[in-house]
Amino acid sequence: MSKRNPHIDSSRLRSLLDGVNAFGFNPQTGGFNRVGYGPADMAVRAWFMEEMRKDGLTVRRDGVANIFGRFGPADGPSVLVGSHLDTVPEGGAFDGVLGVCVALECVRAMRDAGIEPAMAVEVVATAEEEGRFGGMLGSQAIAGVATAAWVDAATDAGGTRLVEAMHDCGLDPRGTLGAARAPGSVRAFLELHIEQGPVLEDRGIPIGIVHTVAGVVNLTVRLAGAANHSGTTPMHMRADALAGLAAVAHAVPHVLQRHGHDNSRITIGKADIHPNFIHTVPGKAEFVVNIRDTDDAVIRALEQAMRAVVADAAEANRLEYAIDEHSRMAPVALDPDLIGLLHQEADRLGVASLDMPSGAGHDAQTMQTLCPSALLFVPSRGGVSHAPDEWTDWEDIEKGAALVLAALVRLVGES
Ligand SMILES: [Zn+2]
Repeated sequence: MSKRNPHIDSSRLRSLLDGVNAFGFNPQTGGFNRVGYGPADMAVRAWFMEEMRKDGLTVRRDGVANIFGRFGPADGPSVLVGSHLDTVPEGGAFDGVLGVCVALECVRAMRDAGIEPAMAVEVVATAEEEGRFGGMLGSQAIAGVATAAWVDAATDAGGTRLVEAMHDCGLDPRGTLGAARAPGSVRAFLELHIEQGPVLEDRGIPIGIVHTVAGVVNLTVRLAGAANHSGTTPMHMRADALAGLAAVAHAVPHVLQRHGHDNSRITIGKADIHPNFIHTVPGKAEFVVNIRDTDDAVIRALEQAMRAVVADAAEANRLEYAIDEHSRMAPVALDPDLIGLLHQEADRLGVASLDMPSGAGHDAQTMQTLCPSALLFVPSRGGVSHAPDEWTDWEDIEKGAALVLAALVRLVGES
């Protein structure tokens, strides 16, 4: 068979994306609701498996509901390409789903061009990436880093246990551990994703090639003073927990100025005061300090500085304090050879690309523990994500898809 150059069929890709987004759409808000292991998430997985089956791929679902469609040799190692199909509540039309649809479009393009890969390509849609139960469960299961203890303990915000949710979907929670792929059986993982930030749009560059995924530390801080009447308690005799919280928040820019770099972020995104009543001085405050950077040493310096800030704020406001590490994920450097290959292919295609970090977590960082992994970004209009306003121009999507296709063809070779 004479081989042609494979090319992305943009309208076919669009209708595949529309097909996925028919699941979980809320016409009232314009948002998409395919929360991990919910009915719409499970239904879209069944639908996508059927689509891949119609394309002649060998389709399977593993113990955590990751789905795979294999193209090429039935045996031997493979290159995985894809992202996730689940969404946050009221999410957008591109986050995750775009990478899965681009992956299948690449396989369709290879097939149409008569390419018979020497090594198999597996399209993958991972499970529970968005964090109903903590996030990246599907890729952690593939990489063999999920543990039975974690699976048993995980619950969602409404108190539903992961094991119950999996049972309700007809999944055996013990299947999580069985989903691990043998080291060496996966030669590479490629993920295309929306940037979810404003950098590419701001720079007018259609493609980001991620070198490092930022690490994150979450510190839960509890401040305890004395709740008392807001009218009768003189200002100088108060132990106001909100005043302590405010002092901590006020110090954030100073900490960043002294210890941070371009990629440093500190956020207090969740806070509660108690009793949270108009006429009462807040006796307790609980909040989470979220610290991110691409360099572990910087994260530790920022963390140490924020711990000192909390101690000072507590002392100045006559408060007791406690700081607990809620969670920690180290920064992950993605595979330098794959990154190099992507830059080369982008140059060959004549597409501008930016070497950049990712501030958000992605499946690629988990997959890097199993195999060489790479992450490509396409621009997010206005930097918006996790919302119905999420948008990426199709012109940029076509460039990103063409780059994934070129990289895949090089990675799997032709037989
Ligand atoms: Zn995502």
